[in-house]
Amino acid sequence: MAVYMKTQINKQLTFFTMFVITTLVCVMSVLFYNLQKKQVFDDLRINAQIIKNLDDKQLADITDLRITKIDSTGTVLFDSNADVGEMDNHAYRPEIEAAQKNTHGQIVRRSDTLNRNTFYYAVLLDDGTILRVAHDAASIWGIINNAVPVIIVTILVMMLLIIICAGFITKRLIRPIENLAKFDDVGCGEPVYNELLPFINTIRMQHEDILKSAKMRQDFTANVSHELKTPLTAISGYAELIENGLCNSKEIVRFSKEIRDNSLRLLSLINDIIKLSELDNLDDKSSFETFNLCDVVSICVDMLKVNAQKNDVSIYFENDGIAEINANREMITELVYNLCDNAIRYNKKNGRVDVTVNVCNGKKSLIVSDTGIGIAQEHHARIFERFYRVDKSRSRQTGGTGLGLAIVKHIVALHNASIQLESSSGCGTKISVLF
Ligand code: ADP
Repeated sequence: MAVYMKTQINKQLTFFTMFVITTLVCVMSVLFYNLQKKQVFDDLRINAQIIKNLDDKQLADITDLRITKIDSTGTVLFDSNADVGEMDNHAYRPEIEAAQKNTHGQIVRRSDTLNRNTFYYAVLLDDGTILRVAHDAASIWGIINNAVPVIIVTILVMMLLIIICAGFITKRLIRPIENLAKFDDVGCGEPVYNELLPFINTIRMQHEDILKSAKMRQDFTANVSHELKTPLTAISGYAELIENGLCNSKEIVRFSKEIRDNSLRLLSLINDIIKLSELDNLDDKSSFETFNLCDVVSICVDMLKVNAQKNDVSIYFENDGIAEINANREMITELVYNLCDNAIRYNKKNGRVDVTVNVCNGKKSLIVSDTGIGIAQEHHARIFERFYRVDKSRSRQTGGTGLGLAIVKHIVALHNASIQLESSSGCGTKISVLF
């Protein structure tokens, strides 16, 4: 889901500011309320000290404070705000009890309205009576209530500021990112965020991979077209000769053989291309099964024995008996077949091919070594490329397509195996696959 960075910054800054302002107002209100409470009680105490010596008539003149006098039994003797006769016994009021005990007591009680509290201060006089003074002041809710308009105005002003600032901040934040998109070679020009470097490197690598694979596909298509063209040109040429009726029966047989050979070459080429495209599309391991590698190798070696004999090459298979691997049986058969087939085709007269399956520390290895023509060091890096051949004519003569080792490399990669090549010109070749 794509979101705008500016909206996100606006939203988060607004929430954050609202949270900070509200918390600040609540904390300040509590502090202010406590301060006010202390101040009100201090005032009440001083007032009580002053008015304790006044008589009831003088007390009745004071209007800002509610003044009450209670005797030691709790009976109300005087109250500046209420009718004494209707007042109940005050002995068990907390502030009165406290004053009886400790010479003074104080309490805050909720007033009729939520926004105001009544603060009471009681003091024990020398004659045993208790003087209580009370005053109404804003409760904590009242203080917060008063602050609400200020909160709203502050939040609105802050939001306006945030929207303006977020615009600037976002612009400055995303400028390096926008600049990145403008450059073909990511990372040059404007400075970039360090945090973005892994991201840039990934993009750069993916970019290079895409270019590389596009180039490979282009090369492959060109190569395939070229490889298909050669046998098709030969087939149509020979067919034309037969069609013209200008050749004798001996030549017809020769030309027909050429047509057949070239058709077979086309077929094996197309088969290899299909195999490669199947391998390209296969990336799950659902077709994998556990089987004995020796069984597959043994079947391949048996299948190739006739071919080896034709080329005056002997093929031998040595193994440890059981080498179980989890793999795609068909692909492994293809891999073994290709390696052994190459070892026979690129061999010398009376040469030999040794196929070995080993198990060492749980690792299974397949080794195909031959006493053939070998591969010079300079070709080692390239022989696994599609259509790369050391000796084109020998490859063609022996029915090669130039795709055998590319298929092998692909199968090895799909099985997370590794492949190793040891060879030098004229001294045979040894290819090992480690599962
Ligand atoms: P091809 O169908 O031409 O054999 P491959 O992909 O199987 O194609 O092999 C690529 C090239 O590597 C071959 O053309 C050949 O030159 C060289 N090569 C492969 N295997 C051997 C081997 N066992 N001995 C010598 N050369 C080999």
